[in-house]
Amino acid sequence: MLGSTGSVGTQTLDVACRLGIKVDALAASTNTAVLEEQIRCFRPALCAVADEEAAKRLKTAVSDTPVKIIAGPDSASEAAAGTCADTVVNAIIGMKGLRPTLAAINAHKNVALANKETLVAAGDLVLDAARRRQTEIIPVDSEHCAIMQCLGGNRAERLILTASGGPFFGMNREQLAVIKPKDALRHPTWSMGAKITIDSATLMNKGLEVIEAAKLFDMPASKIDVVIHRESIIHSMVEYIDKAIIAQLSVPDMRMCISYALSQPQRLPTGVESLNLIKTGKLTFFEPDTDTFILLPLAYYALERGGTVPAVMNAANEAAVGLFLEEKIGFCDIFDVVDSVTRSAVRVDSPGIDDIEKADAAAREAVYAALNIRPNRI
Ligand code: MG
Repeated sequence: MLGSTGSVGTQTLDVACRLGIKVDALAASTNTAVLEEQIRCFRPALCAVADEEAAKRLKTAVSDTPVKIIAGPDSASEAAAGTCADTVVNAIIGMKGLRPTLAAINAHKNVALANKETLVAAGDLVLDAARRRQTEIIPVDSEHCAIMQCLGGNRAERLILTASGGPFFGMNREQLAVIKPKDALRHPTWSMGAKITIDSATLMNKGLEVIEAAKLFDMPASKIDVVIHRESIIHSMVEYIDKAIIAQLSVPDMRMCISYALSQPQRLPTGVESLNLIKTGKLTFFEPDTDTFILLPLAYYALERGGTVPAVMNAANEAAVGLFLEEKIGFCDIFDVVDSVTRSAVRVDSPGIDDIEKADAAAREAVYAALNIRPNRI
């Protein structure tokens, strides 16, 4: 379990507990208090901590247990490859998740992937590695998990991703300009980490998911639609050649996606509450406001251009969201700087991991240079 102390990580461990799945390794960056609890509960053989100081603290705290603690920025990759687990769940946030995903694939493990950024930045590379090693990449993201269920191995004509619209649905640019991180961190239907919650508020999250869907299901941008669906009951849909649309519905609860990712194609009890259609009443659909929320059309642009351009967009967004969370830039600055850095990116075609990491680093630098600001921490 990579990213074990975050929102998807803790929910995955809940699911593992329910399904009786053994957890061989945990990986997180700094949260030693939660890691200690998890080590005592799940008794993994290995625990990776990215932050060296935090690793030292944890080693002392759990010295009475047989767990092996490894430290450093590469420790998540070591944990991904270093056990006899057959599946690695990757819920690391951002590009940091790329090398651990590749390490898991190279060690012939299936990857249940909640780390969408790495499919955006390096989708072809990751899927190609998975094909060569004959391992599976199973989406944990609710939309892609829904699409996987609607497809059931079939080929669709069109994918329809639903989007909650985030907390600022219906707002114009003037209203968005004064938004502070605490406003953006209040998501109407899903409880998630800070970075993805901001991405949901800007609709960048949906843009990233369009690219994720294109890669996972091998669909062109022209066959992927986004519809705003405020209730978050339909998690996504597919349309077949005969115009039949199949949707997947449930109350919004990530544990269902996580459970299905771990058990598919089998279905197991999840403890998730049943959807009451009468209480739900109605389901509504709106067109996304792409004039205001410009990062959604930007994602289509990045997908069409290909090469390193999606990696640039993703990195620019990670950098800009980081600055916004540190209250160094305004909410609308995220739109403008990610748009300008992405559209002025120099594309490298068929990139290898070094090209992608280089493009990622350059895009972050371009964001800081454009705003003339440095982050407190990178
Ligand atoms: Mg999602």
